[in-house]
Amino acid sequence: MPSYTAPVNDIQFVLHALLKASEQDIPGYDELEADFTAAVLEEAGKIAANVIGPLNAVGDKEGCVLENGVVRTPTGFKEAFEQMKEGGWTALDCDPEYGGQGMPVLLGTAVGELFSGANQAFTMYQGLTHGAYSAIHAHGTDEQKAKWLPKMVSCEWTGTMNLTEPHCGTDLGLMRTKAVPQEDGSYRISGQKIFISAGDHDMSENVVHLVLAKIPGGPEGIKGVSLFIVPKFRVDDAGTIGPRNGVSVGKLEEKMGIHGNSTCVMNFDEAEGYLLGTEHKGMRAMFTMMNEARLGVAMQGMAQAEAAYQNAVIYAKDRLQGRAVTGAENPDGPADPLIVHPDIRRNLMDQKSFVEGARAFMLWGANMLDKSHRSGDAKAEGLISLLTPVLKGFLTDKGLEMTIQAQQVYGGHGYIEEWGMSQFVRDARITQIYEGANGVQALDLVGRKLATDGGKHVMAFFELVKSFIKENGEDEALKADFLEPLKQASKDLQAAGMFFMQNGMKNPNAALSGSYDFMHLFGHVCLGLVWAQMAKAANEALASGEGDASFYETKLATGRYYMARQLPATSMHLARIQSGADTVMALDAEAF
Ligand SMILES: Cc1cc2nc3c(=O)[nH]c(=O)nc-3n(C[C@H](O)[C@H](O)[C@H](O)COP(=O)(O)OP(=O)(O)OC[C@H]3O[C@@H](n4cnc5c(N)ncnc54)[C@H](O)[C@@H]3O)c2cc1C
Repeated sequence: MPSYTAPVNDIQFVLHALLKASEQDIPGYDELEADFTAAVLEEAGKIAANVIGPLNAVGDKEGCVLENGVVRTPTGFKEAFEQMKEGGWTALDCDPEYGGQGMPVLLGTAVGELFSGANQAFTMYQGLTHGAYSAIHAHGTDEQKAKWLPKMVSCEWTGTMNLTEPHCGTDLGLMRTKAVPQEDGSYRISGQKIFISAGDHDMSENVVHLVLAKIPGGPEGIKGVSLFIVPKFRVDDAGTIGPRNGVSVGKLEEKMGIHGNSTCVMNFDEAEGYLLGTEHKGMRAMFTMMNEARLGVAMQGMAQAEAAYQNAVIYAKDRLQGRAVTGAENPDGPADPLIVHPDIRRNLMDQKSFVEGARAFMLWGANMLDKSHRSGDAKAEGLISLLTPVLKGFLTDKGLEMTIQAQQVYGGHGYIEEWGMSQFVRDARITQIYEGANGVQALDLVGRKLATDGGKHVMAFFELVKSFIKENGEDEALKADFLEPLKQASKDLQAAGMFFMQNGMKNPNAALSGSYDFMHLFGHVCLGLVWAQMAKAANEALASGEGDASFYETKLATGRYYMARQLPATSMHLARIQSGADTVMALDAEAF
């Protein structure tokens, strides 16, 4: 079975050498000293490796079961969830007013990677609760917050997000679930939601569903959607659990991966619900937490890639096949380990350079969220809003690709369930789909985010890259290996942006035919930027003579690989974008 080891040193490098977290002037960041974050990550790492990691395969095999209307989670999940609650892990970055520990999203994301890497399906129960917590925290009245949040912070009550219906996923304007106002100010919610993650289970006393629904007589389409709190069990004003609400599980979905997470069809039959935020402004309420939720899914993608990579390395060092082309490296054995072969090296380097770059990009994203939420930094808010579809789309696409490459290292054994590599692939696959399918992320990026505020945020991104290259232009250790490739990739990105500006208005198909390539092009430039920044940090650490020199040398070599072997993909993406819509839209629908 696969193992999991928390990559604490790599996370510490990003938090302290790259982001210099404790030196940043953001409320709460002064607590993020290296000793403190190391202690938190070590502890979380033990739980990831010893408690929830071993349940990953159990959850995959057993799945969830619907019994007498209640979902039963796989063996061991309940006990492990109790341990998470008791350790306060569910409350790490929640508001202290409601029992949280008030840590920044940066630390929450770093810890989240460990739990998600060890067991994505399990960690989703808490992740969904956190999403619902954030929505109530941002849009609830004081009474609603006092009533629902403390128990959600502790995960005594868990949360869900109910958007999708059988006939509407991306296009939520088609929604049919109804919310009829009552005299007492509550609403009666009726309708069916599908694919609801953590929709029901046996690990909490109550499930607090956040449900999008339409109030009859309201505006048509997406403008008529409102958000409601709809608990599984009603709760009185004193916070005591009362009778069952009109909420039931229609069925559990059978699915490709994340078997340990219950994906439910939820039926709402005149269920009592309470408006969250303003009538007809449900989508706005959802959007305020979307950046955080999408960063969470990006994290899942990279975390699965990290976990799969760790196991691919172990296997590549252990499995003996063939001889090194340059002469036997294990002359006393019957063959050399796989890791001697250049093609296996290429495969492992692809994975390693992706996960380390992706982690830096992801934690930089979390840092921007903290800057915008805790310091009211409008520039950071604009930038993270622009980069959120890139984080979600690129890290999950590449995350899946890397789990497949890790599986490939195992040859046929990767395809056989016994080795557990196929679970990484199956679990990672959903990250491309939920929280907005990746094609829709690309659409959001090109159709909306690029032009937001007159293109100010994309210009700010280009400025960031340009100034980094300029400030470090004389650094010979960075110039050829890092700055030149970054400059070229950034030029490709600008040329793509220019193509959209020149062609997008007169032919929208031309822009949208290139949107997916643009998302990937942008993702590569982001990883190129963080790799150049990490190289600078590694050089500085080496020059200081402190720390583990081999760690920094390895970091530099891994970065050079990314710049030389991955970043040139930008020119291919640009060529595709510049070919426009002609070949994409050439056929009539009947020709397919
Ligand atoms: C395991 C699992 C868990 C989930 N958990 C939840 C949950 O907890 N809560 C919840 O509400 N939902 C959940 N979902 C639903 C998920 O978010 C949706 O499946 C997803 O948003 C896509 O919606 P859809 O399946 O209806 O696809 P559709 O909207 O029908 O889209 C189909 C394809 O068309 C593309 N597409 C759609 N519109 C456009 C367009 N305008 N331009 C270009 N391409 C387009 C999409 O990218 C996609 O590839 C979950 C789904 C699964 C499978």
